[in-house]
Amino acid sequence: MSVHDADPDPAAIPAVAGGEPLCRDGFQRRPRYGREELKLLQEALEQQTLFYAQGSMVARMEERFCRMTGSPFAVAASSGTAAIHAALIAAGISPGGEVVTSPVTDMGTVIPVLWQGAVPVFADVDPESFVITPESVEAVLTPRTRAVIAVHLWGNACDLDGLSELCSARGITLIEDCAQALGCVYRGGSVGTRGAVGCFSLNEFKHIACGDGGVAVTADPGLARRLRLATDKCYGRDAEGASRQAFFLANNYRMTELQGAVALAQLEKLEGIVERRRRWCGALLEGLRGLPGIRLPRPTDGCEPSWWFFPLRVVPEETGCGADRFAAALRAEGIPASSRYIGQCVYQYPLFLDHSAFERGTHPFAAQDYRHGLCPEAEAWLETVVIIAVNESYTSADLDSCVRAVSRVARWFAGSPGG
Ligand SMILES: *Cc1c(COP(=O)(O)O)cnc(C)c1O
Repeated sequence: MSVHDADPDPAAIPAVAGGEPLCRDGFQRRPRYGREELKLLQEALEQQTLFYAQGSMVARMEERFCRMTGSPFAVAASSGTAAIHAALIAAGISPGGEVVTSPVTDMGTVIPVLWQGAVPVFADVDPESFVITPESVEAVLTPRTRAVIAVHLWGNACDLDGLSELCSARGITLIEDCAQALGCVYRGGSVGTRGAVGCFSLNEFKHIACGDGGVAVTADPGLARRLRLATDKCYGRDAEGASRQAFFLANNYRMTELQGAVALAQLEKLEGIVERRRRWCGALLEGLRGLPGIRLPRPTDGCEPSWWFFPLRVVPEETGCGADRFAAALRAEGIPASSRYIGQCVYQYPLFLDHSAFERGTHPFAAQDYRHGLCPEAEAWLETVVIIAVNESYTSADLDSCVRAVSRVARWFAGSPGG
């Protein structure tokens, strides 16, 4: 029996097999910057200073961030990576210490660990929610573990109840990497407020953006003070000026008033952005239930994701095809899809395998055994994941195209003899 007998509707032939594409110019994105950003940028310039400690934009943005997260302190940084680095510096992570994190993340999670001379240790991810779990973290703890960086991938939180219990019982610092999870809610509160420090990114591709920027939040006044010093050369600043008595190794990770102004305007838009993404992805999740060969993402218990992207899993045994062909078939229908996300686990990057962090000498991670098979669930996920891009501008027509395209492609591959 051919697939055409199974489905007599000629429109059900996917575009990759010669059918009509479902959608030609859908999935348009509206401009993300407008008058609001321009107005605050002008105000920033009219201050005649773009320095954070003299102007008001960065300070106002930090206050707004505190309100958004419910955190008492927020410290701006020049990027999400910088915010994570500042968190590690503030938390006293030092050479030889171990920091547990996810193998499926941006290098921005791992770079700061390496600059502290600490050793990244990778915990496996949950096969349905794709984030590290208290169990997978516990399995890799050693007496040298100093911190855990919980990565809330795709806008879905880790099990923060479990992770904070585990970390506090062992005296380990919990840091939250919320770069993909702006607006994500965990048990009624913003992500970033369960760990000692929560770190956010405002790079061009995140829910809201200011070109490049980051923010670290904390409830601990001592950590807040150290975070500020960590982003500003360890110069203490007050109304009288700077005290140049650097007493620990910091960096210049300052945010300028220009980024602060844009970020402040963008923060006003976050709630609407997250609400629209949540509605669109919630409907997509419902629309795709029960398709052959497809596994849908399962948000962590107690979490309302903010959907940075929508991850599907293709089961090769049921579809007869891998993630690459599935994603290509979706693209042929006009759907913004891609496969494999970062391609391979972070520990499989040449930097780790070839010990080439520095031109000469070795980094303390050299003693660690990074190898294929280290995190089997993460590796299997990256082999089978199809990512559907998500944007707050997407319409209900786009939603309809997306549901129909995934259904058509999944049924066709599942029903077609050669796949
Ligand atoms: C984007 C991102 C970062 C780094 O943020 P930058 O602002 O690009 O430095 C860190 N972690 C995760 C999970 C990210 O997605």
